[in-house]
Amino acid sequence: MELQEARRIVREFCSQWTTQKCCEVLAFAEDGKMRFDNRCKCLIGVASSNVLHDEYCGEQHYAIFKYDNLDSFGVESAYWSLHRDDSPQGEHQARRDFQFIAKS
Ligand SMILES: [Zn+2]
Repeated sequence: MELQEARRIVREFCSQWTTQKCCEVLAFAEDGKMRFDNRCKCLIGVASSNVLHDEYCGEQHYAIFKYDNLDSFGVESAYWSLHRDDSPQGEHQARRDFQFIAKS
């Protein structure tokens, strides 16, 4: 997926959040807690959590959200496309990119 398309999909997804939700997720990302490979802390994970969390919770919120929102597969794929690679630097860059997108 092209970066521009990935950004558009992620932006559209985040634009559905309330201002409060957006602020919470941005703070979570700012703390470096968002992670692609963790179902509580990936984009779908944070979107589906009532309270953002670091601890493993059983991933039910993630599973339910994905079941109810089939387009979330595309959203996840788009979020992955923000990663230049799967190194810690790639993850960091994706979080920065995400924060920029979610604020705009
Ligand atoms: Zn969780």
